[in-house]
Amino acid sequence: MSNYANSKLVEEKVFKDPVHRYVHVRDQVIWDLIGTKEFQRLRRIKQLGTAYLVFHGAEHSRFNHSLGVYEIVRRIVDDVFRGRPEWDDSERLVVLCAALLHDLGHGPFSHAFENVFHTDHEYYTRQILLGNTEVNAILRKVSGDFAERVALVIEKNYTNNIVVSLISSQIDADRMDYLQRDAYFTGVSYGHFDMERILRVIRPRQGQIVFKASGMHAIEDYIMSRYQMYLQIYFHPVSRSAEAVLNHILKRAKKLYEEGYQFKFEPVHFHAFFNNVVSLEDYLALDENILLAYFQFWMGEEDAILKDLCRRFLNRDLFAHVDLNPEEEPERYAWLIEQVRAQGLDPEYYVKPDSTSDLPYDFYRPGDKSTKKPIYLEMPSGEIRELSEQSHIVSAMANNIKVDYKVYYPKEILFI
Ligand code: ZN
Repeated sequence: MSNYANSKLVEEKVFKDPVHRYVHVRDQVIWDLIGTKEFQRLRRIKQLGTAYLVFHGAEHSRFNHSLGVYEIVRRIVDDVFRGRPEWDDSERLVVLCAALLHDLGHGPFSHAFENVFHTDHEYYTRQILLGNTEVNAILRKVSGDFAERVALVIEKNYTNNIVVSLISSQIDADRMDYLQRDAYFTGVSYGHFDMERILRVIRPRQGQIVFKASGMHAIEDYIMSRYQMYLQIYFHPVSRSAEAVLNHILKRAKKLYEEGYQFKFEPVHFHAFFNNVVSLEDYLALDENILLAYFQFWMGEEDAILKDLCRRFLNRDLFAHVDLNPEEEPERYAWLIEQVRAQGLDPEYYVKPDSTSDLPYDFYRPGDKSTKKPIYLEMPSGEIRELSEQSHIVSAMANNIKVDYKVYYPKEILFI
Protein backbone atom coordinates (compact mmCIF):
# COMPACT_ATOMS: atom_id res chain seq x y z
CA MET A 1 0.00 0.00 0.00
CA SER A 2 1.25 3.45 -0.92
CA ASN A 3 1.13 6.56 1.24
CA TYR A 4 -1.72 7.59 -1.01
CA ALA A 5 -3.89 4.83 0.55
CA ASN A 6 -3.61 6.49 3.95
CA SER A 7 -3.57 10.11 2.91
CA LYS A 8 -6.30 12.23 4.49
CA LEU A 9 -7.77 15.54 3.41
CA VAL A 10 -6.65 18.47 5.54
CA GLU A 11 -10.29 19.41 6.08
CA GLU A 12 -13.07 16.84 6.09
CA LYS A 13 -15.49 17.28 3.16
CA VAL A 14 -19.21 16.88 3.77
CA PHE A 15 -22.08 16.41 1.35
CA LYS A 16 -25.53 17.44 2.53
CA ASP A 17 -27.78 14.42 2.16
CA PRO A 18 -31.54 14.23 2.76
CA VAL A 19 -31.35 10.65 4.10
CA HIS A 20 -28.17 10.54 6.19
CA ARG A 21 -28.01 14.31 6.82
CA TYR A 22 -24.31 14.38 5.96
CA VAL A 23 -21.91 12.19 4.02
CA HIS A 24 -18.39 12.53 5.44
CA VAL A 25 -15.22 12.18 3.38
CA ARG A 26 -11.75 12.23 4.94
CA ASP A 27 -9.84 9.89 2.61
CA GLN A 28 -8.07 11.44 -0.36
CA VAL A 29 -8.78 8.30 -2.42
CA ILE A 30 -12.54 8.54 -1.88
CA TRP A 31 -12.53 12.26 -2.66
CA ASP A 32 -10.58 11.66 -5.88
CA LEU A 33 -12.90 8.83 -6.97
CA ILE A 34 -15.97 11.05 -6.52
CA GLY A 35 -14.36 13.58 -8.86
CA THR A 36 -13.86 11.15 -11.76
CA LYS A 37 -15.95 11.47 -14.89
CA GLU A 38 -17.16 7.87 -14.57
CA PHE A 39 -18.53 8.52 -11.09
CA GLN A 40 -20.01 11.91 -12.07
CA ARG A 41 -21.85 10.15 -14.90
CA LEU A 42 -24.03 8.47 -12.24
CA ARG A 43 -25.72 11.84 -11.74
CA ARG A 44 -27.32 11.24 -15.14
CA ILE A 45 -28.69 7.77 -14.32
CA LYS A 46 -31.79 7.74 -12.15
CA GLN A 47 -31.88 5.31 -9.25
CA LEU A 48 -35.44 4.21 -9.97
CA GLY A 49 -35.53 4.28 -13.78
CA THR A 50 -39.09 4.96 -14.96
CA ALA A 51 -40.65 5.24 -11.48
CA TYR A 52 -40.67 9.06 -11.75
CA LEU A 53 -43.60 8.70 -14.15
CA VAL A 54 -45.63 7.37 -11.21
CA PHE A 55 -43.97 9.05 -8.19
CA HIS A 56 -42.92 12.40 -9.53
CA GLY A 57 -40.39 12.97 -6.74
CA ALA A 58 -38.37 9.92 -7.74
CA GLU A 59 -35.80 11.78 -9.84
CA HIS A 60 -32.87 10.92 -7.56
CA SER A 61 -29.77 9.47 -9.17
CA ARG A 62 -27.38 6.61 -8.64
CA PHE A 63 -24.87 9.28 -7.63
CA ASN A 64 -26.88 10.12 -4.48
CA HIS A 65 -27.40 6.46 -3.70
CA SER A 66 -23.72 5.54 -4.16
CA LEU A 67 -22.65 8.25 -1.73
CA GLY A 68 -25.28 6.96 0.72
CA VAL A 69 -24.02 3.37 0.56
CA TYR A 70 -20.49 4.63 1.11
CA GLU A 71 -21.62 6.62 4.17
CA ILE A 72 -23.37 3.64 5.78
CA VAL A 73 -20.30 1.42 5.30
CA ARG A 74 -18.03 4.18 6.58
CA ARG A 75 -20.07 4.45 9.76
CA ILE A 76 -20.00 0.68 10.27
CA VAL A 77 -16.26 0.29 9.82
CA ASP A 78 -15.21 3.52 11.57
CA ASP A 79 -17.73 3.67 14.41
CA VAL A 80 -18.69 0.05 15.11
CA PHE A 81 -16.05 -2.36 13.80
CA ARG A 82 -12.83 -0.47 14.41
CA GLY A 83 -10.77 -2.03 17.17
CA ARG A 84 -12.80 -5.26 17.34
CA PRO A 85 -10.59 -8.35 17.17
CA GLU A 86 -12.71 -10.00 14.44
CA TRP A 87 -12.40 -7.03 12.08
CA ASP A 88 -9.25 -6.48 10.05
CA ASP A 89 -8.91 -2.71 9.66
CA SER A 90 -6.60 -3.10 6.67
CA GLU A 91 -9.80 -3.94 4.71
CA ARG A 92 -11.22 -0.50 5.43
CA LEU A 93 -10.27 1.23 2.19
CA VAL A 94 -11.25 -1.64 -0.11
CA VAL A 95 -14.73 -1.89 1.41
CA LEU A 96 -15.25 1.88 1.25
CA CYS A 97 -14.24 1.96 -2.41
CA ALA A 98 -16.47 -1.03 -3.23
CA ALA A 99 -19.40 0.69 -1.49
CA LEU A 100 -18.87 3.89 -3.44
CA LEU A 101 -18.35 2.18 -6.80
CA HIS A 102 -20.73 -0.80 -6.64
CA ASP A 103 -23.23 0.67 -9.18
CA LEU A 104 -20.67 2.26 -11.48
CA GLY A 105 -21.57 0.10 -14.50
CA HIS A 106 -25.28 0.87 -14.57
CA GLY A 107 -26.53 2.17 -17.88
CA PRO A 108 -29.53 4.35 -18.73
CA PHE A 109 -32.84 2.82 -17.60
CA SER A 110 -30.83 -0.27 -16.73
CA HIS A 111 -33.47 -2.94 -16.80
CA ALA A 112 -35.18 -2.12 -20.12
CA PHE A 113 -31.90 -1.29 -21.80
CA GLU A 114 -30.16 -4.51 -20.77
CA ASN A 115 -33.15 -6.46 -21.91
CA VAL A 116 -32.89 -5.17 -25.50
CA PHE A 117 -29.12 -4.88 -25.95
CA HIS A 118 -28.04 -7.75 -23.68
CA THR A 119 -25.53 -5.58 -21.87
CA ASP A 120 -24.74 -6.38 -18.26
CA HIS A 121 -24.02 -3.64 -15.71
CA GLU A 122 -21.86 -5.99 -13.62
CA TYR A 123 -19.62 -6.65 -16.59
CA TYR A 124 -19.28 -2.89 -17.18
CA THR A 125 -18.56 -2.21 -13.53
CA ARG A 126 -15.53 -4.48 -13.85
CA GLN A 127 -14.52 -2.84 -17.15
CA ILE A 128 -14.64 0.63 -15.60
CA LEU A 129 -12.67 -0.48 -12.55
CA LEU A 130 -9.96 -2.22 -14.56
CA GLY A 131 -10.01 -0.48 -17.96
CA ASN A 132 -8.48 2.74 -19.20
CA THR A 133 -10.52 5.08 -16.98
CA GLU A 134 -10.00 7.84 -14.44
CA VAL A 135 -11.32 5.50 -11.76
CA ASN A 136 -8.69 2.89 -12.60
CA ALA A 137 -5.90 5.47 -12.54
CA ILE A 138 -6.82 6.35 -8.95
CA LEU A 139 -7.21 2.76 -7.76
CA ARG A 140 -3.84 1.87 -9.33
CA LYS A 141 -2.17 4.58 -7.30
CA VAL A 142 -3.26 2.78 -4.12
CA SER A 143 -1.55 -0.46 -5.15
CA GLY A 144 -1.06 -2.68 -8.18
CA ASP A 145 -3.84 -5.14 -7.32
CA PHE A 146 -6.23 -2.73 -5.62
CA ALA A 147 -8.64 -2.28 -8.56
CA GLU A 148 -8.93 -6.05 -8.87
CA ARG A 149 -9.65 -6.35 -5.13
CA VAL A 150 -12.44 -3.76 -5.36
CA ALA A 151 -13.91 -5.65 -8.33
CA LEU A 152 -13.83 -8.94 -6.41
CA VAL A 153 -15.71 -7.41 -3.47
CA ILE A 154 -18.44 -6.07 -5.77
CA GLU A 155 -18.65 -9.44 -7.55
CA LYS A 156 -18.94 -11.23 -4.18
CA ASN A 157 -15.78 -13.28 -4.84
CA TYR A 158 -13.53 -11.59 -2.32
CA THR A 159 -11.97 -13.84 0.30
CA ASN A 160 -13.12 -11.87 3.34
CA ASN A 161 -16.79 -12.67 3.71
CA ILE A 162 -17.43 -9.82 6.15
CA VAL A 163 -16.33 -7.31 3.54
CA VAL A 164 -18.62 -8.86 0.89
CA SER A 165 -21.60 -9.01 3.27
CA LEU A 166 -21.42 -5.29 4.03
CA ILE A 167 -22.00 -4.56 0.32
CA SER A 168 -24.10 -7.55 -0.62
CA SER A 169 -26.24 -9.71 1.68
CA GLN A 170 -29.86 -9.77 2.84
CA ILE A 171 -29.20 -6.73 4.99
CA ASP A 172 -26.41 -4.79 3.35
CA ALA A 173 -25.56 -1.12 3.04
CA ASP A 174 -26.86 -1.10 -0.54
CA ARG A 175 -30.42 -2.03 0.45
CA MET A 176 -30.39 -0.03 3.67
CA ASP A 177 -29.61 3.04 1.59
CA TYR A 178 -31.96 2.50 -1.33
CA LEU A 179 -35.00 1.59 0.79
CA GLN A 180 -34.74 4.79 2.79
CA ARG A 181 -33.72 6.94 -0.16
CA ASP A 182 -36.45 5.63 -2.45
CA ALA A 183 -39.01 6.10 0.34
CA TYR A 184 -37.83 9.67 0.84
CA PHE A 185 -37.92 10.63 -2.84
CA THR A 186 -41.17 8.85 -3.71
CA GLY A 187 -42.75 10.43 -0.63
CA VAL A 188 -44.31 7.19 0.65
CA SER A 189 -44.54 6.53 4.37
CA TYR A 190 -43.32 2.91 4.30
CA GLY A 191 -39.65 2.17 3.65
CA HIS A 192 -38.47 3.86 6.81
CA PHE A 193 -36.88 1.76 9.55
CA ASP A 194 -34.56 2.31 12.47
CA MET A 195 -31.16 2.06 10.81
CA GLU A 196 -29.46 3.67 13.79
CA ARG A 197 -30.55 0.72 15.93
CA ILE A 198 -29.38 -1.80 13.30
CA LEU A 199 -25.97 -0.12 13.09
CA ARG A 200 -25.63 -0.36 16.85
CA VAL A 201 -26.09 -4.15 16.91
CA ILE A 202 -24.14 -5.21 13.82
CA ARG A 203 -21.02 -7.29 14.62
CA PRO A 204 -18.27 -9.19 12.84
CA ARG A 205 -18.31 -12.80 14.16
CA GLN A 206 -16.67 -16.00 12.97
CA GLY A 207 -16.00 -14.58 9.53
CA GLN A 208 -19.53 -13.29 8.97
CA ILE A 209 -21.90 -10.51 9.92
CA VAL A 210 -24.36 -11.07 12.77
CA PHE A 211 -26.81 -8.86 14.67
CA LYS A 212 -27.27 -8.92 18.41
CA ALA A 213 -30.69 -10.45 19.13
CA SER A 214 -31.70 -7.32 21.05
CA GLY A 215 -31.96 -5.57 17.68
CA MET A 216 -34.34 -8.13 16.18
CA HIS A 217 -37.36 -5.84 16.11
CA ALA A 218 -35.50 -3.22 14.15
CA ILE A 219 -34.55 -5.92 11.65
CA GLU A 220 -38.14 -7.16 11.43
CA ASP A 221 -39.13 -3.61 10.66
CA TYR A 222 -36.49 -3.46 7.92
CA ILE A 223 -37.85 -6.69 6.37
CA MET A 224 -41.40 -5.30 6.54
CA SER A 225 -40.43 -2.03 4.93
CA ARG A 226 -38.60 -3.92 2.22
CA TYR A 227 -41.71 -5.98 1.54
CA GLN A 228 -43.88 -2.86 1.37
CA MET A 229 -41.47 -1.03 -0.91
CA TYR A 230 -41.30 -3.94 -3.33
CA LEU A 231 -45.03 -4.24 -3.66
CA GLN A 232 -45.82 -0.55 -3.69
CA ILE A 233 -42.88 1.01 -5.52
CA TYR A 234 -40.55 -1.42 -7.27
CA PHE A 235 -43.32 -3.64 -8.67
CA HIS A 236 -45.68 -0.77 -9.42
CA PRO A 237 -47.63 -1.75 -12.55
CA VAL A 238 -47.54 1.72 -14.13
CA SER A 239 -43.80 2.07 -13.74
CA ARG A 240 -43.49 -1.36 -15.39
CA SER A 241 -45.79 -0.11 -18.16
CA ALA A 242 -43.37 2.75 -18.84
CA GLU A 243 -40.57 0.19 -19.00
CA ALA A 244 -42.56 -1.83 -21.53
CA VAL A 245 -42.95 1.23 -23.79
CA LEU A 246 -39.26 2.09 -23.37
CA ASN A 247 -38.25 -1.46 -24.16
CA HIS A 248 -40.28 -1.37 -27.37
CA ILE A 249 -38.85 1.99 -28.45
CA LEU A 250 -35.35 0.54 -28.26
CA LYS A 251 -36.43 -2.68 -29.94
CA ARG A 252 -38.10 -0.73 -32.77
CA ALA A 253 -35.09 1.57 -33.31
CA LYS A 254 -32.82 -1.48 -33.50
CA LYS A 255 -35.09 -3.23 -35.99
CA LEU A 256 -35.32 -0.12 -38.20
CA TYR A 257 -31.55 0.22 -38.19
CA GLU A 258 -31.14 -3.42 -39.20
CA GLU A 259 -33.62 -2.92 -42.06
CA GLY A 260 -31.62 0.03 -43.39
CA TYR A 261 -34.28 2.63 -42.48
CA GLN A 262 -33.12 6.22 -43.04
CA PHE A 263 -33.48 8.00 -39.71
CA LYS A 264 -34.06 11.75 -39.93
CA PHE A 265 -32.03 11.94 -36.78
CA GLU A 266 -29.29 9.37 -37.05
CA PRO A 267 -28.87 7.44 -33.78
CA VAL A 268 -25.06 7.64 -33.71
CA HIS A 269 -24.90 6.92 -29.99
CA PHE A 270 -26.66 3.61 -30.59
CA HIS A 271 -24.68 2.30 -33.59
CA ALA A 272 -22.29 0.27 -31.45
CA PHE A 273 -25.24 -1.25 -29.57
CA PHE A 274 -27.19 -2.04 -32.74
CA ASN A 275 -24.07 -3.70 -34.20
CA ASN A 276 -23.22 -5.42 -30.95
CA VAL A 277 -19.65 -4.10 -30.87
CA VAL A 278 -19.79 -1.94 -27.77
CA SER A 279 -16.56 -0.44 -26.45
CA LEU A 280 -16.26 0.93 -22.93
CA GLU A 281 -16.20 4.41 -24.42
CA ASP A 282 -19.48 3.78 -26.29
CA TYR A 283 -21.03 2.49 -23.11
CA LEU A 284 -19.99 5.45 -20.99
CA ALA A 285 -21.16 7.94 -23.62
CA LEU A 286 -24.78 6.93 -23.04
CA ASP A 287 -26.89 8.23 -20.23
CA GLU A 288 -30.56 8.94 -19.65
CA ASN A 289 -30.37 12.50 -20.94
CA ILE A 290 -29.09 11.19 -24.27
CA LEU A 291 -31.84 8.58 -24.51
CA LEU A 292 -34.56 11.10 -23.72
CA ALA A 293 -33.14 13.51 -26.31
CA TYR A 294 -33.38 10.79 -28.98
CA PHE A 295 -36.95 10.00 -27.97
CA GLN A 296 -37.78 13.66 -28.42
CA PHE A 297 -36.21 13.73 -31.91
CA TRP A 298 -37.76 10.41 -32.92
CA MET A 299 -41.24 11.81 -32.38
CA GLY A 300 -40.57 13.51 -35.70
CA GLU A 301 -39.65 10.28 -37.56
CA GLU A 302 -41.58 8.84 -40.51
CA ASP A 303 -41.91 5.42 -38.92
CA ALA A 304 -45.35 5.33 -37.31
CA ILE A 305 -44.42 2.85 -34.59
CA LEU A 306 -41.22 4.53 -33.40
CA LYS A 307 -42.86 7.92 -33.46
CA ASP A 308 -45.93 6.76 -31.57
CA LEU A 309 -44.00 4.86 -28.88
CA CYS A 310 -41.75 7.89 -28.24
CA ARG A 311 -44.80 10.10 -27.94
CA ARG A 312 -46.37 7.66 -25.50
CA PHE A 313 -43.28 7.58 -23.31
CA LEU A 314 -42.61 11.32 -23.23
CA ASN A 315 -46.24 12.34 -22.81
CA ARG A 316 -46.91 9.54 -20.36
CA ASP A 317 -49.59 7.95 -22.48
CA LEU A 318 -48.59 4.53 -21.24
CA PHE A 319 -49.93 1.02 -21.78
CA ALA A 320 -52.81 -0.42 -19.78
CA HIS A 321 -52.37 -3.76 -18.03
CA VAL A 322 -54.26 -6.87 -17.16
CA ASP A 323 -53.41 -9.71 -14.75
CA LEU A 324 -52.51 -12.49 -17.12
CA ASN A 325 -49.88 -15.19 -17.30
CA PRO A 326 -49.65 -16.16 -21.00
CA GLU A 327 -48.42 -19.63 -20.08
CA GLU A 328 -51.42 -20.33 -17.91
CA GLU A 329 -54.02 -18.71 -20.14
CA PRO A 330 -52.74 -18.98 -23.71
CA GLU A 331 -56.19 -18.53 -25.28
CA ARG A 332 -56.93 -15.31 -23.44
CA TYR A 333 -53.49 -14.04 -24.41
CA ALA A 334 -54.02 -14.99 -28.08
CA TRP A 335 -57.35 -13.17 -28.01
CA LEU A 336 -55.68 -9.99 -26.73
CA ILE A 337 -53.09 -10.20 -29.50
CA GLU A 338 -55.90 -10.49 -32.05
CA GLN A 339 -57.62 -7.40 -30.65
CA VAL A 340 -54.43 -5.41 -30.97
CA ARG A 341 -53.88 -6.63 -34.51
CA ALA A 342 -57.50 -5.77 -35.41
CA GLN A 343 -56.75 -2.16 -34.45
CA GLY A 344 -53.96 -2.14 -37.03
CA LEU A 345 -51.21 -2.27 -34.38
CA ASP A 346 -48.25 -4.65 -34.44
CA PRO A 347 -48.40 -6.89 -31.32
CA GLU A 348 -44.61 -7.18 -31.45
CA TYR A 349 -44.48 -3.53 -30.27
CA TYR A 350 -47.86 -3.12 -28.60
CA VAL A 351 -48.17 -6.17 -26.35
CA LYS A 352 -45.73 -7.05 -23.60
CA PRO A 353 -45.99 -9.78 -20.97
CA ASP A 354 -44.10 -9.00 -17.78
CA SER A 355 -43.60 -10.65 -14.43
CA THR A 356 -42.09 -9.39 -11.20
CA SER A 357 -39.71 -12.36 -11.14
CA ASP A 358 -37.79 -10.63 -13.94
CA LEU A 359 -37.08 -7.61 -11.75
CA PRO A 360 -33.82 -7.22 -9.85
CA TYR A 361 -35.40 -7.45 -6.41
CA ASP A 362 -35.80 -10.50 -4.21
CA PHE A 363 -37.77 -11.10 -1.05
CA TYR A 364 -36.27 -12.61 2.07
CA ARG A 365 -36.30 -16.37 1.44
CA PRO A 366 -33.76 -17.92 3.79
CA GLY A 367 -34.05 -21.47 2.39
CA ASP A 368 -33.42 -20.39 -1.20
CA LYS A 369 -29.80 -21.08 -2.06
CA SER A 370 -29.82 -18.73 -5.03
CA THR A 371 -30.49 -15.66 -2.88
CA LYS A 372 -27.98 -13.71 -0.87
CA LYS A 373 -26.61 -14.64 2.54
CA PRO A 374 -29.34 -14.83 5.20
CA ILE A 375 -29.55 -12.67 8.31
CA TYR A 376 -28.03 -14.14 11.47
CA LEU A 377 -28.87 -13.21 15.03
CA GLU A 378 -26.50 -13.65 17.92
CA MET A 379 -28.44 -14.87 20.95
CA PRO A 380 -27.42 -13.81 24.48
CA SER A 381 -25.95 -17.32 24.93
CA GLY A 382 -23.62 -16.70 21.96
CA GLU A 383 -25.53 -19.12 19.74
CA ILE A 384 -26.08 -17.95 16.13
CA ARG A 385 -29.56 -18.36 14.62
CA GLU A 386 -31.04 -17.50 11.24
CA LEU A 387 -33.61 -14.70 11.57
CA SER A 388 -36.75 -16.57 10.43
CA GLU A 389 -36.14 -19.31 13.06
CA GLN A 390 -36.48 -16.67 15.71
CA SER A 391 -38.99 -14.20 14.26
CA HIS A 392 -42.59 -15.27 13.59
CA ILE A 393 -43.21 -12.17 11.48
CA VAL A 394 -40.32 -12.91 9.18
CA SER A 395 -41.09 -16.62 8.90
CA ALA A 396 -44.71 -15.83 7.97
CA MET A 397 -43.61 -13.41 5.26
CA ALA A 398 -40.66 -15.37 3.94
CA ASN A 399 -42.75 -18.13 2.42
CA ASN A 400 -45.68 -16.14 1.22
CA ILE A 401 -44.56 -14.28 -1.86
CA LYS A 402 -46.36 -14.60 -5.17
CA VAL A 403 -45.05 -13.61 -8.58
CA ASP A 404 -47.21 -11.00 -10.28
CA TYR A 405 -47.89 -11.63 -14.00
CA LYS A 406 -49.20 -8.87 -16.20
CA VAL A 407 -49.63 -8.19 -19.88
CA TYR A 408 -49.33 -4.62 -21.15
CA TYR A 409 -51.27 -3.31 -24.16
CA PRO A 410 -52.50 0.06 -25.51
CA LYS A 411 -55.33 1.41 -23.45
CA GLU A 412 -57.48 2.20 -26.48
CA ILE A 413 -58.02 -1.57 -26.84
CA LEU A 414 -60.97 -2.71 -24.81
CA PHE A 415 -60.15 -5.85 -22.93
CA ILE A 416 -62.26 -7.94 -20.65
ZN1 ZN B 1 -26.86 0.04 -5.24
